[in-house]
Amino acid sequence: MAAARRLLPRWAGSLRPVRGGRGPGNGNWDGERGQGPRTGRGTGIGTGTGDRDGNRPRPAPLTPARLCPQISAAAAGALPPRVKVVEVGPRDGLQNEQSIVPTPVKIGLIDMLSGTGLQVIEATSFVSPRWVPQMADHTEVMQGINKLPGVSYPVLTPNLKGFQAAVAAGAKEVSIFGAASELFTKKNINCSIEESLERFSEVMSAARAASIPVRGYVSCVLGCPYEGKISAAKVAEVSKKMYSMGCYEISLGDTIGIGTPGSMREMLTAVMKEVPVGALAVHCHDTYGQALANILVALQMGVSVVDASVAGLGGCPYAKGASGNVATEDLVYMLNGLGIHTGVDLQKLMDTGTFICNALNRRTNSKVSQASCRL
Ligand SMILES: [Zn+2]
Repeated sequence: MAAARRLLPRWAGSLRPVRGGRGPGNGNWDGERGQGPRTGRGTGIGTGTGDRDGNRPRPAPLTPARLCPQISAAAAGALPPRVKVVEVGPRDGLQNEQSIVPTPVKIGLIDMLSGTGLQVIEATSFVSPRWVPQMADHTEVMQGINKLPGVSYPVLTPNLKGFQAAVAAGAKEVSIFGAASELFTKKNINCSIEESLERFSEVMSAARAASIPVRGYVSCVLGCPYEGKISAAKVAEVSKKMYSMGCYEISLGDTIGIGTPGSMREMLTAVMKEVPVGALAVHCHDTYGQALANILVALQMGVSVVDASVAGLGGCPYAKGASGNVATEDLVYMLNGLGIHTGVDLQKLMDTGTFICNALNRRTNSKVSQASCRL
């Protein structure tokens, strides 16, 4: 409870009624005058800004800065001073769209994202078009985007063929995909987790030879659509293997968005015994509305890399109608409020969300954008 109280924004106190006296009826804005003895001075936050009789402080206007207040890192507890936001909308988000998104829209999306200050934008996936038709234009996308210096554009490469095509198209960083669930792995690619990781060895050695960094995803870390609960020990084991194989970062994916701050804490506690926290990222889907809470727990435990998807693009193939990844706008809003540096311009991000939602003719999943009435 103490930690939760510390997270209250500073202005929360200023919105409480300022008590002008001890009489009944105090406790709302209008009940302060004329009740109880006057003290001759303001008694709450805002002392000194009162009106003529100096008895009733006026509230400051609700400016955007007051609506999105920052609290100091110290007040929020141990939090990282900066967070790297990994934008996965163009890949993880669009991959779940039913209709094929035109290549120029994908390129436009990535170019707009590049202008927001994001450092990492996962651009596409070099999988077989037979498996994922939405990503069939991967080469055109990689060659069509305007790659800004200082921004990396990793792509998903499930096998050596995909890796080679990605490098030929100009990829400078790749990702591989594992899972913490045996049944999920079996149903998806018909092999065990161990066998699935062995399949990546060719990609890993080719990447090492070409000095290309590899990011590893572990999916189903907080639950599996087939297996249900996944043990934290299993997640730790798979994460350790992928880290030992040479992945520079392990992104822990709550693929079905079923986790809670409690299960996130339990899972991270186990994984952090095997992989340094500086090499961990979290990837939270918002299916059960827990994503931001889960991310906050991860931040409090020292994680400083968070995946997100602009406009909350994406879905969950195992729960129809469920929402997708946490919206990048909502994540950046929360991090801004915590005083955590991201380098991301929230307004430009919201404009990018508007662009892609208009192009897809759908409503944004970002609560911040909805509240700002931009769509
Ligand atoms: Zn995802």
